[in-house]
Amino acid sequence: MARKRILITGAAGFLGSHLCDRFISEDFHVIAMDNLITGDLRNIEHLFKLENFEFYNHDVSTFVHVPGELDYILHFASPASPIDYLKIPIQTLKVGSLGTHNLLGLARAKHARMLIASTSEVYGDPNCNPQPEEYWGNVNPVGPRGVYDEAKRFQEAITMAYHTFHGVETRIVRIFNTYGPRMRLNDGRVLPAFIGQAIRGEDLTVFGDGSQTRSFCYVDDLIEGIYRLLFSDYPYPVNIGNPDEITILEFGEEIIKLTGTDQKLVTRPLPTDDPKQRRPDITKAREILGWEPKVSRAEGLKITYEYFKSLPKDIIEKIEH
Ligand code: NAD
Ligand code: UDP
Repeated sequence: MARKRILITGAAGFLGSHLCDRFISEDFHVIAMDNLITGDLRNIEHLFKLENFEFYNHDVSTFVHVPGELDYILHFASPASPIDYLKIPIQTLKVGSLGTHNLLGLARAKHARMLIASTSEVYGDPNCNPQPEEYWGNVNPVGPRGVYDEAKRFQEAITMAYHTFHGVETRIVRIFNTYGPRMRLNDGRVLPAFIGQAIRGEDLTVFGDGSQTRSFCYVDDLIEGIYRLLFSDYPYPVNIGNPDEITILEFGEEIIKLTGTDQKLVTRPLPTDDPKQRRPDITKAREILGWEPKVSRAEGLKITYEYFKSLPKDIIEKIEH
């Protein structure tokens, strides 16, 4: 039987590269697409020799053409870290809006099922905790994070519209903070920031008083949730994340313990509109997908720390702010 064909956008990034690995291991033909604006070809170079893998260097905010049939599309292209999307705000808005529109058009033309990577950021700075899918969010559209949050909210809206009005089969995953190997050590997100600082012998920078919370999900758990959602028949948003919530201050202390560094926690100003709390309500994922996270933070952090330590020295030393 011919292999199923799947297009993965954002394939050279953190999550996209893990999705490529997963679908290759399930014997799909993977068509990877990325313009490398925040990604790195090293994340997928091990796949280039495979006959069921191909790569297109392309900006999906411009017209997307893929020859041949397509069964599935996973749209993961988008800057994802606050320092990335603050540096390239217009590209961020475009890839969530125009990029999603282009890919929905492609899905419609090819009769492909499309899953989009949405985010817990659609809940903004939430005034309920944990956040269920029914919560509509508390987002500042004109604040600095608005370029990401509103692009993702538009992305969900246009995806539902294509589902409702054009009958395109769509899936929406709302991803909560995820970590693991292949994150960029200098992407500014709290986990690579803290581990990078510990490895380089710098103090760990806690933004604000560190009382804000996050809930960190290990990448393998997330990929399993996405895989199950794609093959489910549920078209509405589903939260995927690990409900184990922790304050950023406690998280910094955990990283100090894990790395054995002598450095200390130092405070820095809290970025504008930084969400105060974030924890997924995963009732739907449990009921619809039979999914829940399996990897504890202690296990996941150990694997991720080993990965970061194994990187070449020039990558560990390179920080751009
Ligand atoms: P990442 O920056 O590592 O990967 C994103 C990839 O998309 C990069 O390889 C980048 O080069 C590519 N890209 C960006 N704009 C593009 C464009 N116009 N055309 C083609 N490629 C483009 O980020 P990530 O953490 O892997 O995030 C992947 C997706 O998951 C994003 O859509 C993000 O919003 C979503 N997400 C991630 C998290 C998380 O915790 N990692 C949480 C919520 C949502
Ligand atoms: N943060 C921090 N120190 C850093 C980087 C981030 O204290 O060096 C905080 C940040 O203010 C936020 C939390 O850690 O409250 C998570 O930030 P991240 O950028 O990882 O993700 P997001 O805010 O998008 O959840």
